[in-house]
Amino acid sequence: MGEKVLEVISLRVYYDLPQGTVRAVDDVSLDVRRREVIGIAGESGSGKSTLALAITGLLRPPAKVVSGKVLFNGVDILRLSEDELRRIRGRKIGVIFQDPNTYLNPIYTSGFQVAEVFEAHRGIHAKKYLNEVVKLFRLVKIADPERRVYAYPHQLSGGMKQRVLISMAIAERPDLIVADEPTSALDVTIQSEIMDLLAEIREETNTSIVMITHDLALLFEVADRVAIMYAGKLVELGRASDLIKDPLHPYTKALLSILRYERKKKLTSIPGSIPSLINPPPGCRFHPRCPYAFSKCSKIEPKAVNIDGRLVACHLVGGSE
Ligand code: SF4
Repeated sequence: MGEKVLEVISLRVYYDLPQGTVRAVDDVSLDVRRREVIGIAGESGSGKSTLALAITGLLRPPAKVVSGKVLFNGVDILRLSEDELRRIRGRKIGVIFQDPNTYLNPIYTSGFQVAEVFEAHRGIHAKKYLNEVVKLFRLVKIADPERRVYAYPHQLSGGMKQRVLISMAIAERPDLIVADEPTSALDVTIQSEIMDLLAEIREETNTSIVMITHDLALLFEVADRVAIMYAGKLVELGRASDLIKDPLHPYTKALLSILRYERKKKLTSIPGSIPSLINPPPGCRFHPRCPYAFSKCSKIEPKAVNIDGRLVACHLVGGSE
């Protein structure tokens, strides 16, 4: 295993809303090694996007970090100023979000917007970097890159715009890329191509990738390890090959059974719904939906135990029954 690029330690991120406090990420720990692709999966409301914002230093009020650390190359990014974060984000941490239309400015060419990433970090005018951008567009497989650097966002397809965002994220060869639902807005063929592309980029640039998605089928194609989140908690974390072969947590089992037996791609079919994170169920947060729940589950929160390198938080696992 390579050295740790990212370490999330006992992180708690809550949102103070008029209705109450939402415990969106509640005591989550994980690490990411160099050149590793780690996938984070779970239904909407599991806390995975809040975790992505914390990792990239993009949390904004009403979100607040209640406790914990996010160590990036040993530095706690939760304690950095906005200026210090800006220097890291884009250069050391690349970010890819779901909808490229939100992040691309319609009045500038795609090439200029990517070149601005270089300008921001090197202080020379963006126009000087257009040749670098052509190389990047070639790397992310944008056809006819010499012409496309002069295209405006509205002249590009959805898949192409996402490739432009990816080229922004990798422009400075970051140590870490955080991709939050990077393919949700795209059709299935393009989704698969973008995932393959991210895997190739990892090979070429040695970067680590945190991939966040509710699409397990795509995730298991590219991830080395997978973390499963439920209602703000990390319930299982292990090698993708181990999880797919032998899921240990009942929630992971439920998610994978959808993939295997119902052949659906989206996580919409587990009976019941994710609980309110203002008043989450006591004990194990999954107990109202868990077919294996027993009396202890509604009273005592299961602690994560290490089973041959895999972390699982369930009273049925590790002899805590
Ligand atoms: Fe199910 Fe109990 Fe395990 Fe929670 S702790 S997943 S309710 S068996």
